[in-house]
Amino acid sequence: MAVTTLKRPTTTQRKFQLDEKDLPTHWYNIQADLPSPLPPPLHPGTGQPIGPADLAPLFPIELIKQEVSRERWIEIPEPIRDAYKVWRPTPLIRALGLEKVLGTPAHIYYKWEGVSPAGSHKPNTAIAQAYYNKQEGTKRLATETGAGQWGSALALAARMFDLECKVYMVRVSYDQKPYRRILMETWGAEVVPSPSPDTNVGRAALAKDPKSPGSLGLAISEAVEDAATRDDTKYSLGSVLNHVLMHQTVIGQEAKKQLELAGERPDILVGCIGGGSNFSGFAFPFIADKLTGKVKDLRIIAVEPMAAPSITKGRYVYDFGDEAMMTPLVKMHTLGHSFMPAPIHAGGLRYHGMAPSVSALYEQKQIEAVAVHQRPTFEAAVMFARAEGYLPAPESAHAIRVVIDEALRCKESGQAKTIAFNLSGHGHFDLGAYERYLNGELEDYEYPAEKVREALADLPKVAV
Ligand SMILES: *Cc1c(COP(=O)(O)O)cnc(C)c1O
Repeated sequence: MAVTTLKRPTTTQRKFQLDEKDLPTHWYNIQADLPSPLPPPLHPGTGQPIGPADLAPLFPIELIKQEVSRERWIEIPEPIRDAYKVWRPTPLIRALGLEKVLGTPAHIYYKWEGVSPAGSHKPNTAIAQAYYNKQEGTKRLATETGAGQWGSALALAARMFDLECKVYMVRVSYDQKPYRRILMETWGAEVVPSPSPDTNVGRAALAKDPKSPGSLGLAISEAVEDAATRDDTKYSLGSVLNHVLMHQTVIGQEAKKQLELAGERPDILVGCIGGGSNFSGFAFPFIADKLTGKVKDLRIIAVEPMAAPSITKGRYVYDFGDEAMMTPLVKMHTLGHSFMPAPIHAGGLRYHGMAPSVSALYEQKQIEAVAVHQRPTFEAAVMFARAEGYLPAPESAHAIRVVIDEALRCKESGQAKTIAFNLSGHGHFDLGAYERYLNGELEDYEYPAEKVREALADLPKVAV
């Protein structure tokens, strides 16, 4: 499609900016407003609810407290707000170019999280996690990374708070995507391919298969072992956990103010979901108004890949967070912890489970979920890049696909709905995937239902 809209003169305001003084002072904790408390995480060995002591070797106390807190607002410490100010508040942008290309009466807005130094929303929690670790005397952080986005966010945060950082990067990505690794190393992190010779799990995997391509589950197990066996080291996770989602709520709080500045009341909110953190960060402050009855008729749509459809095809049961069955059992939508992801290009969305709060909200019909294929997703990404200029991360493009579909529905019905979505990151390190799409080499892949049944057959039976 020929698009010249970047140069289109317009008198309509395009960008809605906040000042640094408008940066949120608190994170919003949705656990305060959920109609019923989340089912408790269970100990992988005993099946009993876990307590703070079980998590203390891995996480600082303050984060463990946040994980189970039912307080509605948690104050953001000043040093974290200071670090956020490097790029926050982020802009909310009216997608006038995209509206024009689609010929839709809908008003489309995107919250642009790709302006962070790491290029995604992930530093919002990485910085908070690094801060609390520093406060409690941690010297070193260990984590895993698949495509490299979380590893880069944590490498950045560790640098900001003067901590060492060790990243176990899934072997295939380590070999195929050197630039994310170089970014992490530039910020001073140590990056090793996983499986690595540095841990017991890694050595065992290498003994079995010296050429093992690795997996996210294995890399998690290595990072957890690293943290659990060293006094100076804690573990850090980039999504799924309650405190991680809560740290992201600065996104939605800002977006709410910005939509007010634009004189808009949203009808539809959209976000992509891997573990659920950018979607939650964007949507939870709005869902708060639904849960408290202040707002009705607001549709909120979570978008996942057909290749890892944890909500739309998985089941809402207790499962492990990792392949090696070392993490607590959590009640969530899951494809089974033995899920082997197909090599799709939205690396950040290839997780078998979903955040427990997102899962619960879906069960309670507060949110909707849609699964989309790779090719229509990249079609949407390219259309967006041509109409708006910014190159979306393949993950974020899942949200764009559904935004476009909803905007086209508005065109048919003639309704001028307001649609807002979270553009969670840029795709500058994903040009290989864009190249494959442009060359017609990308293929759609749907995770087969039989595999979900098989994977869920060997789940542990828990009596909750
Ligand atoms: C990691 C990532 C995601 C997926 O993770 P969530 O926790 O679901 O947000 C989405 N978009 C981008 C740009 C990412 O880096």
